[in-house]
Amino acid sequence: MRTLETFEFHYDTLKAALEKRALCDDMQIIEQAIAYANDKHQHQKRKDGSPYIIHPLAVAAIVAEFGLDTDAILAALLHDCIEDTDASHSDIASLFGETVAELVEGVTKLTRANFSSTEQAQMENLRKMFMAMSKDIRVVLIKIADRLHNMRTMQYQTPAKQVSKCRETMDIYAPLAHRLGMQKIKWELEDISLRYLVPDDYNTITNYLNEHQQQDEAFMNTIQSNISDRLSAVGIRNTSYGRIKHVYSIYRKMQTQCKRIEELYDLYAFRVIVDSIPDCYNVLGHIHDLFNLVPGRFKDYISTPKPNMYQSLHTTVIGKQGIPFEVQIRTWDMHETAEYGIAAHWKYKQGSGGGSEKDFEWVRRLLESQQDSDADEYIESLKIDMFDDEVFVFTPKGRIVSLPAGSTPIDFAYAIHSGVGNAMIGAKVNNRIANIDASLNNGDIVEILTSKSAKGPSRDWLNICKSNQARTKIKQWFKKEKREENVNHGRASFEAEMRRTGLPLSLTIDPEISPQLLKKLSFDNWEDMYAAIGYGGLTALKAVGRIRDEINRAMKSQANEKSAQVVAKPVEGENRHSVNGVIVEDIDSCLIKFAKCCTPVPGDAIAGFITKGFGVSVHRADCPNAANRHEQPQAARWVRVRWANQDNQPFETTLELDCITRDGLLLDVATVMSTSRVRLKELNGKDLPGGKSVFTVRFEVRNVDELEVIRTKLLNIRDVVGSRRGQN
Ligand code: MN
Repeated sequence: MRTLETFEFHYDTLKAALEKRALCDDMQIIEQAIAYANDKHQHQKRKDGSPYIIHPLAVAAIVAEFGLDTDAILAALLHDCIEDTDASHSDIASLFGETVAELVEGVTKLTRANFSSTEQAQMENLRKMFMAMSKDIRVVLIKIADRLHNMRTMQYQTPAKQVSKCRETMDIYAPLAHRLGMQKIKWELEDISLRYLVPDDYNTITNYLNEHQQQDEAFMNTIQSNISDRLSAVGIRNTSYGRIKHVYSIYRKMQTQCKRIEELYDLYAFRVIVDSIPDCYNVLGHIHDLFNLVPGRFKDYISTPKPNMYQSLHTTVIGKQGIPFEVQIRTWDMHETAEYGIAAHWKYKQGSGGGSEKDFEWVRRLLESQQDSDADEYIESLKIDMFDDEVFVFTPKGRIVSLPAGSTPIDFAYAIHSGVGNAMIGAKVNNRIANIDASLNNGDIVEILTSKSAKGPSRDWLNICKSNQARTKIKQWFKKEKREENVNHGRASFEAEMRRTGLPLSLTIDPEISPQLLKKLSFDNWEDMYAAIGYGGLTALKAVGRIRDEINRAMKSQANEKSAQVVAKPVEGENRHSVNGVIVEDIDSCLIKFAKCCTPVPGDAIAGFITKGFGVSVHRADCPNAANRHEQPQAARWVRVRWANQDNQPFETTLELDCITRDGLLLDVATVMSTSRVRLKELNGKDLPGGKSVFTVRFEVRNVDELEVIRTKLLNIRDVVGSRRGQN
């Protein structure tokens, strides 16, 4: 752990980094920023009790070491001012320029965003969003420097905070550092995280390394002098050193190989840094000459750089000691890239604004040169200025939601759930009431206000929303919700109009009549027709007018034939009181008699006529006396009747037979009747002029089927030529 948490230490580090890059002229404005930040943070202390300014100063020093420009260094010094003090964007802009103010603003946004998430699946999204939120890559680099310093001073935090911060570092910052090629930063972030997240294993490894330090150093010194002696002898200018691999990588090896640290062999790595690429391959030859090559471990990342632009030659060899070790050979340029990644390629642009095309030159080059799948992943996370088509926002609970750029709270609401969208009455963005058509920005926390009494989406929303998802769901709502409303409303006015006109509604559900009516109305089904009335595309008056004639005609013809089938159809589940086997609709108890004219039996379609003083007279529906029952003024006296389901009760009925007169005919009819085992009540013959006669047969049957069997038998008698129900 660092013990040099003093103003002087960080100030000197910063100054040294600037001197190295000949930026000393900028020291004056940097001094100004230090004074400004110190003044703003004067009432704040670090957790360890030291003045707050030490933190931004340390971050600025790290940023300077990354190789970033003066604007980024100034922004690093001021990075907590907007978040923690009364300094505003415009204050900073007027003192240090708009670019610096924007960088600080960007860092503030990342600071406010909640990147802690327990969902593994969200991590990649979080990382993407982190990048997307930072239009300027310098913002990400300052934020990484900020996190690095906070990690270095983690011992002053509470244990709970240590764990949550380290978790976040492993989930977000270390992978980002890796993607950006900042290997050195990544290692440090990982090692500090491991120390707090898995302290036992961390201690095991560091204790082992400490115990073996002398041994390790002796070994590494031997190898290092073997290498440098040889290279000096052949005249290759180089810097070489050995190191123990970082703690977290040892931990990972132990985990993946299920080994104890004693069993791991490749803990050592040597670096040889030279001036040119030909020197790299030269060195490789000498290494392979000095030591024994471990087959299959040579990798040429110079001709094929890693997706994060890392370049080096890697080879693993074994010396006389029998201990394998890795040798990495690279140029100084490659070394800078390996340590600081994208930051190493930062082009200092005097006076020009950040975030321009040029800023991403390196990234672009990378995107063009890398084609493998690993690169795809990298490209995904590095799209920075290519994220124009996406915006990432949070739910109040910290869930990340990805939407098309320019999306509004409406899009957000429908992305959460269509129910949320349909019940939306307003929205809060970053805890402030916002218009539902406001454009959302990366990192916004969006809360949708809903109400049970919300009237649902408005048609305007279709023009406001940016996502297809929202548009589809809003359209669905109009189709479904509004249609229901329209159908109900339309049906009510249609039925009211039918009642007013005195037309029966029953025909609209009559399977035979209904299609004809719909044809007249030019609709495929009644729902559509009702919906049209509901919308106001058709008035109920007009609709009824169009079908009035058709209904009247249908009622007339039904009176002659079939309509009674509808009338007499038993209503399921209804168990009303019947009299003489007949139920009268709407009248619970009344006298029932069967009309002599047609003598109906169960199975016949029937209709009831309210007589004056004799109760209800039941006719067959096709009885001529019932033909005009739908017409005024008598219509009101006709009632709907139906048969009760009583199969065993006998009903009296009458058949008239037309015959050609002959002797013995009466006997033949009587014989048929007696063999049919029905109760014969009356059998009369009457001679007509011209050798014809009419027989009247009155008998009892249980239903119309029985009656038809007897009728057929009678018609089979020779000289019986016709038959008729009832009595004329
Ligand atoms: Mn900070």
